Amino acid sequence: MGPLTDRALALDAADPLAKVRERFVINDEFVYLDGNSLGRLPKATIERMRSVVEDEWAHELVLGWSHWLDIGLDIGAKLAPLIGAAASEVVLCDQTSVNLYKLAVAGLRHSGRTDIITDEGNFPSDRFVLGAIASAAGGRLILAPEDPTAADVRSLATTNVGLVSFSHVGYRSGAMLNAAAVTQAAHDAGALMLWDLAHSAGAVPVELNAWGADLAVGCTYKYLNGGPGAPAFLFVSEALITELEQPMSGWYGHEDQFAMAAKFIPAGDIRRFVVGTPPIVSMVGADEGIRVTAEVGMAAIRTKSLALTDFFIEALGTMPQHGFTLITPGGHEERGSQITIQHPEGYRISLALRKAGVIPDFRAPDLIRFGFTPLYTTFGEAAQAADVLDRVMSSREYEDFEAIRMGVT
Ligand SMILES: *Cc1c(COP(=O)(O)O)cnc(C)c1O
Repeated sequence: MGPLTDRALALDAADPLAKVRERFVINDEFVYLDGNSLGRLPKATIERMRSVVEDEWAHELVLGWSHWLDIGLDIGAKLAPLIGAAASEVVLCDQTSVNLYKLAVAGLRHSGRTDIITDEGNFPSDRFVLGAIASAAGGRLILAPEDPTAADVRSLATTNVGLVSFSHVGYRSGAMLNAAAVTQAAHDAGALMLWDLAHSAGAVPVELNAWGADLAVGCTYKYLNGGPGAPAFLFVSEALITELEQPMSGWYGHEDQFAMAAKFIPAGDIRRFVVGTPPIVSMVGADEGIRVTAEVGMAAIRTKSLALTDFFIEALGTMPQHGFTLITPGGHEERGSQITIQHPEGYRISLALRKAGVIPDFRAPDLIRFGFTPLYTTFGEAAQAADVLDRVMSSREYEDFEAIRMGVT
């Protein structure tokens, strides 16, 4: 055991969140550092999903809707404090990409303008969806540099820009933006601000109302551990809810859903952004994941996240000979809960790591991401990942793998 491992064991022994790991199913041999792509399974989710299927669906059948109907609102209320929002401003529904579409169309229409600013490093759905919306409005999508700043917004904004939309934490770099300053710059330009919180919710403190944010979307299957394909969430600030018209007017968004009315009249609350029937089994997965996060609290999660990522950055610093570039910013204020390194052989290195039992992920063309989920990631795992990385590089084990990319990375 090296000094790194010794220190990791001491940090784990002193970790106030150490026991939370026991609330997750961990029966694999992996060092799992991909919770930023798909979080682990909370034990409580198994019983909850069983109960929804065997007790509720099997016995209640359609009568179950008497308590399922508002499940998206109920879970939204539970999530709201974790993202600095009021309960009435958040709902779980659809996917992040779909929610982004609904809110971006609504926001751009409300602005009466045609152009949208995002950044060239933003997630594909974000760039694709926002690009299509701007062009349908007869405008254009303006691309700021990756990991943009308030100054970028100021220099790119014109009187045509009605919406600015960035990821609060970049999925590639793990960089965290100064959300209050960026939101202010968007407002100064007369635009609304839409945040994508996919890599923020459950990972870093989010203060939507304190930032002055107008709109936000995010995932529940990453740091919130809701399960594969768990429903996403959306946020609309209170003052805007009744001002906005979303483009997908479904029956769930009607002010009187079961009136089966001839004409669409949007609900006077956050329901107007819901489209159709929620996936109940997946919804309860999101509920259990959010429950664990809410019980632990974002302050404790953030403290451990910074300690874990500091530890891993320090470990990387002991192996300069391997030629990695650390992409994630070093400053605490500028970092999410993942560490990204760049290497020309990134893809083959990520395969060699997987073979050696360390699961990071790979993002084309040359980035390896290590996600740290404080609820279940240990310092020991961070040390082991660093050791394995060092070994894979020193032995050039990665050269045994084909450089042709296949399947999910
Ligand atoms: C993961 C992720 C998404 C995922 O969108 P889905 O519609 O759930 O597939 C969207 N935006 C960002 C920034 C992401 O990281």
